[in-house]
Amino acid sequence: MSPEEERIKVPERSPEERVNDFHEVPLGYTPEQAMEEAQRCLECAKSPCIGGCPVEIDIPKFVKQIADGEFQEALETLKEFNCIPAITGRVCPQEEQCEEVCVMGNVGDPINIGKLERFVADYARENDLEETPEIEETKEERVAIVGSGPSGVTCAAMLAQNGYQVTIFEALHEPGGVLKYGIPEFRLPNDVIDHELEYLDELGVEMRMNRIVGQNIELKELKDEHDAIYVATGAGSPRFLGFEGEDLKGVYSANEFLTRINLMKAYKFPEYDTPITDMEKVGVIGAGNVAMDAARSALRMGAESHILYRRTTEWSPARDEEVEHAKQEGVQFDTLCNPKKFKGDEDGWLEEIVLYECELEEPGEDGRPSPTVLEDTEHSEEFDTAVIAIGQQPNKVFYENAEGVDVKEWGGIIIDEDTRMTTEEGVFAGGDAVSGAATVILAMGDGREAAKSIMEYLE
Ligand code: FAD
Ligand code: SF4
Ligand code: SF4
Repeated sequence: MSPEEERIKVPERSPEERVNDFHEVPLGYTPEQAMEEAQRCLECAKSPCIGGCPVEIDIPKFVKQIADGEFQEALETLKEFNCIPAITGRVCPQEEQCEEVCVMGNVGDPINIGKLERFVADYARENDLEETPEIEETKEERVAIVGSGPSGVTCAAMLAQNGYQVTIFEALHEPGGVLKYGIPEFRLPNDVIDHELEYLDELGVEMRMNRIVGQNIELKELKDEHDAIYVATGAGSPRFLGFEGEDLKGVYSANEFLTRINLMKAYKFPEYDTPITDMEKVGVIGAGNVAMDAARSALRMGAESHILYRRTTEWSPARDEEVEHAKQEGVQFDTLCNPKKFKGDEDGWLEEIVLYECELEEPGEDGRPSPTVLEDTEHSEEFDTAVIAIGQQPNKVFYENAEGVDVKEWGGIIIDEDTRMTTEEGVFAGGDAVSGAATVILAMGDGREAAKSIMEYLE
């Protein structure tokens, strides 16, 4: 590849250094590096990159502005489409979205769109650039948003920018949803999230924490006080394996494990009073982003960390970057390996995981090969901690107490695809609560579409 065809590399902390703490791994571009990377953009007339982004950011425009050193203007372009670019720039699966269709990818490396987006947002934060857009004249209509994850905050920001009076009701004591309680700080630092959420404050969005809709406040009450509602309660309920020993001490769902470490800061115990039991050897069951986050967090808590996965690494649903980082840091990948049972000691603590070897069949209709368990391969391996990371589903607390809001068998809220309205008049929904566990940017795309529908409905 010629030098113009190669992307400017983003500096990263070495694996030996970063595995000892929870600080961020990639360091981000300097202004000079960002300008050099942006200058590689071909400014294509058809710009397929825009179609690859679920919120349709005008990518060539903000990239050109970076190339010209116009960072304030680049920020304004980004914020027109995306209220949390510092977050999406870090966690979006860019390689399957905007960057996958980038024309530069046909001849060399695609433009590093995600890292450029992160650069602009970080530069704005560090240099106090003006971030608040003009807010339209205040309207009388009030909208309640349930849930402060990426979908809820995107919908809230767009409505507030258009003059609506918006209040977010959030079950936890801090806003941010999975961004805060799930994704670890070495991928997404909390101060970055907090800064991005300050933007909502500047737009006049009110946040009410510790409000569990369906438990300590009813949907009906929200309906009485608001003209429309957007439900973005996510998919925060863990799936379990349903086999023997799952209730042993030392066996966690990934949600509990990561919430304890991230939101409750178990890694700062005893300064923060939320312990994770001492761990020597951790087996993480699953191989998606959540599993990588759990395995890499376990390493940082001082444990030997294993991914236990039924397929081979190439079939892992996690982002390539996450698998790569996990391997560099020393997470061990035990592939073609199917856990079947947890065994404990007489005090009820996990002692061993019973495992079977697998082999892969030819890929099926979904393009993925099914694993077949080889029955005569049963063996046990010692583990004192297991983390189950096999997926999440919507939490019942909202939908079992939301009169008129119908859900599918697995708990996904049913909406009209055109209007995004649920089966209850004036109540809209989106994000993981509708789709099941997906991605930050898809949840944000839903939030934008819902905001447009709510505005049409209110007008
Ligand atoms: P959430 O982020 O789940 O937010 C929902 C909010 O609603 C929460 O704050 C919750 O407390 C609140 N809530 C729930 N019920 C109620 C109620 N009854 N009343 C009031 N509030 C309520 N995606 C990526 O794109 N890239 C990644 O790298 C990535 N990594 C991930 C790592 C982990 C560990 C996890 C768990 C997920 C990851 N995802 C990733 C997925 C992504 O985070 C989600 O798809 C996204 O956050 C969904 O956004 P949301 O707004 O729909 O829901
Ligand atoms: Fe790409 Fe995500 Fe940014 Fe869209 S939000 S341009 S998909 S990194
Ligand atoms: Fe630039 Fe790639 Fe978009 Fe073309 S497709 S405008 S090269 S970012």
